[in-house]
Amino acid sequence: MTSNANLQKRREAAVPRGVGNAYAIFAEKAKNAEITDVEGKRHIDFAGGIAVMNTGHGHPKIIAAVKDQLDKFSHTCFQVNPYESYIRLAERLNKLAPGSTPKKTIFLTTGAEAVENAVKIARAHTKRAGIIAFSGAFHGRTLMGMALTGKYLPYKKGFGPFPTDVYHVPFPDPTQADGVQQSLKTLETLFKADIGPDNIAAIIIEPVQGEGGFNPVPFELMKKLREICTQHGIMLIVDEIQTGFGRTGKMFAHEHSGIEADLITVAKSLAGGFPLSGVIGKAEIMDAPSAGGLGGTYGGSPIGCAAANAVLDVMEEEKLVERANVIGKLMKDRLADMKKRNTTGNRIGDIRGLGAMVACDIIKADGSPDADLTKAITAKAGENGLILLSCGVNANTLRFLMPLTSEDKIINEGFDILEKTIAQA
Ligand code: PLP
Repeated sequence: MTSNANLQKRREAAVPRGVGNAYAIFAEKAKNAEITDVEGKRHIDFAGGIAVMNTGHGHPKIIAAVKDQLDKFSHTCFQVNPYESYIRLAERLNKLAPGSTPKKTIFLTTGAEAVENAVKIARAHTKRAGIIAFSGAFHGRTLMGMALTGKYLPYKKGFGPFPTDVYHVPFPDPTQADGVQQSLKTLETLFKADIGPDNIAAIIIEPVQGEGGFNPVPFELMKKLREICTQHGIMLIVDEIQTGFGRTGKMFAHEHSGIEADLITVAKSLAGGFPLSGVIGKAEIMDAPSAGGLGGTYGGSPIGCAAANAVLDVMEEEKLVERANVIGKLMKDRLADMKKRNTTGNRIGDIRGLGAMVACDIIKADGSPDADLTKAITAKAGENGLILLSCGVNANTLRFLMPLTSEDKIINEGFDILEKTIAQA
């Protein structure tokens, strides 16, 4: 029988170490919120393929839509022989995107590629170069994605030089009452320096920082950024790659703050595991690049579009946006209860999140971040049958991204394992 240990050895010999390695648990099959490994062991999936499986593994409707498309054709390249499913998906997203301004959508393949294209579109529209991002942000592993990303290790080390004209502003410190004011002050200082708002094409922000630690952006800051962008003709790019498609209890996370973005990047859960990303934006902005300036051979592949149209159907039929709020409350209640009963030696710190995008910090007895224990917990969770991811600028945050199709029973089972695991680690 193929064993996890055997495959791990082959992996180490054949695949570069730069490709992250959370677990040596090799998947054989997966169904809804469960993954079975090559040794036949069952694991509860609290990682959801990093926020991709909102509709669960192997959803029959999504699989059927993909199979049906495969029977028709698998690839033509939309730029050569276009197909209706791309247009239908664009029309649906244009309607779903918050705000009343008419929208257009382009499809690509990865999240980082969506970010690259949003920057290209913002620059083409404004004819400016500067891009402002936030500390702690993650926007992908391409050169511009890395430049916009706040964290040096492991994402940027050794990969420079990066594209220029990128500036970082501190993400509001949630422990400081004036965190938002501090961020805005830095922005103002930046504008007063040589750079000036007239040189800024876009401000890019994740409505809830994902890799950065599941930190929701205060709604007040989102609204203020909208105002500043409108005042100076700067494009507000909202990166919904991790937060989009119901995860936070709204279709798009920036709906919570009531703003309308100029450009929205989407990927991950959009096509439920089939590589597809997109940029949704105000029509007049999206039309700035000249014909042929945007696209890509695989961008908006027929398989991805078939899957994504089915994902949107499933989300509607199974009311997954509403379900995210129920799951989020269940998670927060379980974590708060664990903390209250102190079954984990007071190691659970801050519990936070929006909808079903929930996380908790792991801390030392003195309250400081405990990255080593966090690592030990995720490793031990794997042994105990729970797939769990960490994140955060201090690498001490446990994040929970189970499918929104998960039943309460399996979520509770996962938290039972987590409680036992923290006590053991
Ligand atoms: N932006 C955000 C907010 C992300 O969370 C990610 C991936 O984690 C990306 C961009 C990059 O997406 P991809 O890994 O598909 O290139």
